[in-house]
This record gives sequence, C-alpha cells and structure tokens, in this order.
Amino acid sequence: MLKRIYLLVAAVTFIAVLITGFVAFDVVSQYNDQAAHRYLESMSRLAEKYIAEGSDVKIAADSSVAVFSNSTADLRITIVKRDGTVAYDNQADAAGMDNHSDRPEIAYAARTGEIGSAIRSSDTIGQDMLYLALPTDELIIRTSMPLNAHKSALYSLVRTSVIVLLLVIAVLALTGLILVKYITRPLKDLHETAIAMRDGDLSARVLIPDDDSNEMSSLALTYNSMAEKLENTLEELADRKARLDAILDSIVDPVLAVGERCAVTFMNAHAKNVFGRNIDPEQAVYPLVLITHSQATEELAEEAMETSTTVSEELRIKSEDGEKFYHVIASPIRAGSKDGAIITFHDISQARLAQKMRSDFVANVTHELRTPLTSIRGFVETLRNGAVNKPDVANRFLEIIDIEAERLHQLINDILILAEIEQQNSSVDSERFDLNELIDDVAVLLDDIASEKRVSIAVEQDEGDLLVSASRNRIEQIMLNLTENAIKYNNEGGHVYISACRTAEDEIKIVVRDDGPGIAKEHQERIFERFYRVDRSHSRDAGGTGLGLAIVKHIAQLYQGKAEVRSNPGEGSEFTITLAI
Ligand code: ADP
Repeated sequence: MLKRIYLLVAAVTFIAVLITGFVAFDVVSQYNDQAAHRYLESMSRLAEKYIAEGSDVKIAADSSVAVFSNSTADLRITIVKRDGTVAYDNQADAAGMDNHSDRPEIAYAARTGEIGSAIRSSDTIGQDMLYLALPTDELIIRTSMPLNAHKSALYSLVRTSVIVLLLVIAVLALTGLILVKYITRPLKDLHETAIAMRDGDLSARVLIPDDDSNEMSSLALTYNSMAEKLENTLEELADRKARLDAILDSIVDPVLAVGERCAVTFMNAHAKNVFGRNIDPEQAVYPLVLITHSQATEELAEEAMETSTTVSEELRIKSEDGEKFYHVIASPIRAGSKDGAIITFHDISQARLAQKMRSDFVANVTHELRTPLTSIRGFVETLRNGAVNKPDVANRFLEIIDIEAERLHQLINDILILAEIEQQNSSVDSERFDLNELIDDVAVLLDDIASEKRVSIAVEQDEGDLLVSASRNRIEQIMLNLTENAIKYNNEGGHVYISACRTAEDEIKIVVRDDGPGIAKEHQERIFERFYRVDRSHSRDAGGTGLGLAIVKHIAQLYQGKAEVRSNPGEGSEFTITLAI
C-alpha cells in the first residue's frame, strides 16, 4: 500500500517536473524568438538609419553588424534592391548572388511595406536561419542569424531540467526508502501482532515506536489498548461461560439445548451421563432424536419453538439405566436471530413407582379388608335367618366371626404399624436396652404358639448383655414377626433358632433360622413385598396378614439396615437382619 502511494507520488512529481520543463522550454523559446526578432529589427533599423544619413550601403551594413555582433550571434545583413537584386551582403559576394525577390520575407516586405520574417535553411550558409526583411523606400534591408545561436540557451535549459529531474528522482527514491522502512516496520509489527492474536495469543502486543508523538505510535497505543480490552472481554466471557456451564452441570436433571432443525447445541454433564453420550455439540451436529431416541421429545421441542410457549409432557425415555419416566419440559429460547429450545428431563420414575405402589397398596388393603368383612356379614346374615336358634351352629358361626374380626384387627394393626414406620425416623423413642434379654422375652411370649405346633425355640447367644440403642418396640416387632413366621410355616416338631451378635462397632446381626419347608427361589425376592404370600390360603389359615416381612424390611431400613433370606426348599429358611444400632 505504502509502496503504491510512494510510486504514485514519484510519478506525479516526475510528470510535474517534466511538464514544468516543457512549459519553461516553450516560454523561453518564445521569448528567445521575440528577442531574436527585436535584435534583428534593431540592427536593420540602425542600417536604415545609416543609409538614410547618406552612408554607403556597405558601410551602413557593416557598421550595424559591428554594433550588434557578439561572439555567439553570427549576424548576416543583405541589402536588396526593390527589384530583388542584391546590393550588398556581409557574408557573400553580392555579384554572385541570385535575385532575392522570391524570398518569402522579402516578398512579404515588398508587398505589404511591413517587416517580413521567415525561418528556413540558408542556401548560402546551409543551416536554419531566422530572416527578417525591413522595407525602406528603395531598398529592403534583410538581416538574419542562425537559430542555433539563441537555441543553445534553450538546450542548456533542457540539460538543467534533466539534471534537476534526475536529482528529484534520486532524492525521492532515498526519502521513499527511508519512509517505507520507517512506516512499514511498525505496520509490519502491527500485522504480525494481529496474526498472533487471531491465532489465539491474546497477550500479543505491538512494540511502541521510540518516537511516541507520531501517528504510528498513537496507532500502536490504540491497538494495544484495544487488544487489552479484547483480552479482558474474552476472559470475562470465558469466565461467564465456565460459570454458566458449572451451574448447568450442577443441575441434577439432564438439560439439553437445541437450535435449528432440533440439532443439539448444548448438553449438561447429567445429560451426557443419562444418555450415555459424551459429545461436544460445538464440534459436530447431533440431532436430538439421536441422543434421546425419543421422537416425542423432538416433537415437544418443535412445538415449543413453533408456539413460543413452554410445553411439557411425561414421557418414557431410554437412558443408560434403562427405560425411565421423565417429566420433559421444553421452553423456547431465542439465541440471536435463531430459534431454539431448552429441554429439561425430570426423572419421575420413583414418584411413578411410589404412586403405583400406593394404588396397589390401597387395592390390596381394600381386598384384604373386604374378605373378612364379607365373611362376617355372611355369618351374621345366616344367624339372623334362624341359625341363631341352633346353639351348636350359632356358636361355631360366632367363633368364625370372632376369628375374622381378629384377622381384621390384626390387619388394621399391621397397616397402622407400617404407616407409622414410614413416617418415623430411627431417632424417635430410641432407648438403650439388652437385645439378649429382648430375645428371651420374645421366646417366652411365643412359647404357647410354638408348643401348640410342637416346635422348639432355641436361643443361641453369648453370655452377658448385648446392649443396643434403638426403639425396643420396633426391634421386638422384628423378632416377633420372624419367629412367629418360623413357627407358623414350620413342620410339626420343627426347630427355630434365634441368635443376635454385634458384627461391627455400630452393626448388629439378628438371625432367625428354622428347619421348615423352606421357600422356593422365585419367591425369595418377593416375600418382603406387602401382601405377598407364597401360599395364600396357608398364610390365611395361619392368621397371616401378608405384611409381617414388609414390616421387618421397613424397620431394618429405618436403621440403615437390610433384611435378607437364604433358603433351600425342604431345608428350612434363614432370615438375617442387619441393623446400624
Ligand atoms: P404372612 O402374614 O402371610 O406371614 P409375611 O410377610 O410374614 O406374611 O410372610 C410372607 C410369606 O412368606 C408368607 O405368606 C410365607 O408364605 C412366606 N414365609 C415367611 N416366613 C417363612 C418361613 N420361615 N418359612 C417359610 N415360608 C415363610
């Protein structure tokens, strides 16, 4: 750029000098012509004056030449008569000269009576001459001089012009070189810094020239302050983005952003985990459906973008942990001129499961309550219809009604216990007691039922106390439910073994073992569910509610523990409860 400007200036200067030279040449040339005219005219007038004073033409002519002659001007004078014959010539023999009436300047002077002039090559001298013819009454005085005489001044002017021109070019070239170096170095530096910044080195700065008062210095200073601002702004932006990413990553729900044609533009850390895709949307385009495998999610995002409203739906979506229910919310966002949507996935699988369990539970409870109630109402009806008058029958019916009422009572009791456990936490009514003592109490309490079935209860415990801190009632409930089951579902003459020990500083293990019929593998997982029984009628006959093991499991969970069963059909069952008490 600078080189081009410099070349332009040089060209303009060159042309200007050239034009000035030509104009000067022309002006000087005209001036010289006029001066030559005046010179010759003056000489002619002097000769005219001498002739008029009576001098001989030769003397008059030579005297005039002598007055005007100088070293540079080779002057010639020719006195011509009106008829054209030459009377005298200071440079040639007049007798040998031809008639001059046809010479243009002489012809003109003779014809008009005014001074005539002409430039042409002289036949006599053989070079370009300026001729001037002054008419008098009888003669025509013609004077002439070689053009070279005054042109030499012009040539010297041209020579001087050329020298000046060359000097100007030399000076221009020199100053140009210095200027180019002086201006382009900082510009080059500026260019290199800009490239470094473009390539990511935001700390690159321009060197400030020593002379800090010129334009380049102020340009460099301005550039550096602009670079400083740019670096700060970019750092601030990167900082903000990092903070925003951290916020979005800390959200426990998966969050996705989509742009045009539902292409994913952002995924938070949870979205990457849940959908098992560690992608970088800035590197490539990923369609939403490829990430979520859910057409419904894509349609929801499109609806949010089209209607500019937040829309939501409960959808079943495949995740890394299998199919789950999500409350998917799509909200429209406007990033620049482009439409987009932000989609959040709130996992409602647990809530759904809890909801299902609640409705299953209500259905089960209703069913379990209805069975004894129907039975009671049936027997009451039968009694009313006359059976009351038959004492034997009436007594049997009343006994059944009593058993059913007891079953209802037991059922309601168990439901209330479960409800209580679910609402409680382990710290409520915690007390310090001896677990060995509690086990002995339970064995005594169930002794009658055991004897009825000829089942023996053996308590296997170490000497001394086994002190624990927990709710005595809850732990007693565990022991009662497990031991009662071990008796209830045992064979006649069977055995039940109860033991408890401390396995860690804060862990107790309770084991209730029997040598009854055992539990088949497929039931072992499910017997801790509410109302699950292996054999419904057996459980009913044995007075079971189907909630005993569910209560055991919930109490164990209350103490950060677990309830497990190990059993082989025909070899008995072993229930192990671990509790952090
Ligand atoms: P129930 O009130 O019917 O006893 P539980 O929740 O206590 O309900 O037990 C669930 C089911 O597990 C029982 O119906 C029974 O079929 C089975 N079960 C529990 N304990 C034993 C055991 N010791 N031996 C064999 N089966 C058992």
